[in-house]
Amino acid sequence: MIKIITIIGARPQFIKAAALSREIANYDNIEEIIVHTGQHFDANMSDIFFEQMSIPKPHYNLDIHGLGHGAMTGQMLEKIEEVLITEKPNWVLIYGDTNSTIAGALAAKKLHIKVAHVEAGLRSFNMDMPEEVNRILTDRISDILFCPTDTAINNLKNEGYENIDTKIVKSGDIMQDAAIFYSQLEQKPNIEVPQEFILATIHRAENTDNPKRLGAILEALNEIAKKTPIILPLHPRTAQIIQKSEYKTDNLRIIEPVGYLEMVYMLNRCEIVMTDSGGLQKEAFFFAKPCLTMRDETEWVELIDNNFNVLVGADKSKIIDNYQKHQFNTNFDINLYGKGTTAKTIIKILQNY
Ligand code: UDP
Repeated sequence: MIKIITIIGARPQFIKAAALSREIANYDNIEEIIVHTGQHFDANMSDIFFEQMSIPKPHYNLDIHGLGHGAMTGQMLEKIEEVLITEKPNWVLIYGDTNSTIAGALAAKKLHIKVAHVEAGLRSFNMDMPEEVNRILTDRISDILFCPTDTAINNLKNEGYENIDTKIVKSGDIMQDAAIFYSQLEQKPNIEVPQEFILATIHRAENTDNPKRLGAILEALNEIAKKTPIILPLHPRTAQIIQKSEYKTDNLRIIEPVGYLEMVYMLNRCEIVMTDSGGLQKEAFFFAKPCLTMRDETEWVELIDNNFNVLVGADKSKIIDNYQKHQFNTNFDINLYGKGTTAKTIIKILQNY
């Protein structure tokens, strides 16, 4: 019997864990215990994913949220350690680049429990991003690095990982598995969805916590939305910041965050995606939609190299010009993220390592 502890706490991790948990359920000899750190805790950033995607109920809910990085990560480290001492798992499975990711890895490593990092090797090369710090430190102390892309593998090689005793696996991207399975279950959101529209999200601290950048992005979107409707499911943090500000958003269709199945419905029908989200950049590709990324760099460089995605920063005229004029690659028939068998690959390796 193999016991795996899965540590999740934020929206994209629920989506990734959903795909892996579905696969784990096929094996009698694997027990999965889910620990929800509480990083995202409200109904439409957390509960809805567990319900819609049939993720097993968390065995532990640590209820840690609303704190600064240090306090949040510190409390997670302490509480995850307690869980690991009680449960004595064979593996701790962590996803992506959040505070829950680094806390899970660190707690496990110090107890000599094996750590598997899903979505390893990604880099933005921007050390001001909390996510970049989490990624680099987590990779360094993980026992297996499941890399979604060739770029991720090359990043690790460039950092000297060939000389480090860590197993590096090109597994494909677990979000591709999720997109393939859950797209069959798409659900119409509880709003009017126009024939033609743009799907946008903004949540990254480098944009939301910088008034100049957030202002430029909102001005550009508000301008574009005069002609083409923009649906903007807004992260509660961004919503709060906008509410307190004087930014003009009157043309935008701002809605509460939605579940993944509603997202899939809109991804299937939108004209283009405009986002600063990591996951959504890839989903645009999975659903054969072009994407404008409102950041200065991305971890998903293969989308840029193949002209499915353009980096437009937080520059009003660059955003508007590229929306109006850029000729994107429309041939999506290229395998960048695997074929939706990432969960299978990961489980096989965890069983045999
Ligand atoms: N997403 C969602 N509902 C929303 C907005 C986004 O389900 O209202 C999904 C989106 O489709 C993607 C994931 O959340 O799968 C991305 O999460 P987020 O942008 O918070 O994080 P990032 O990918 O940037 O780490």
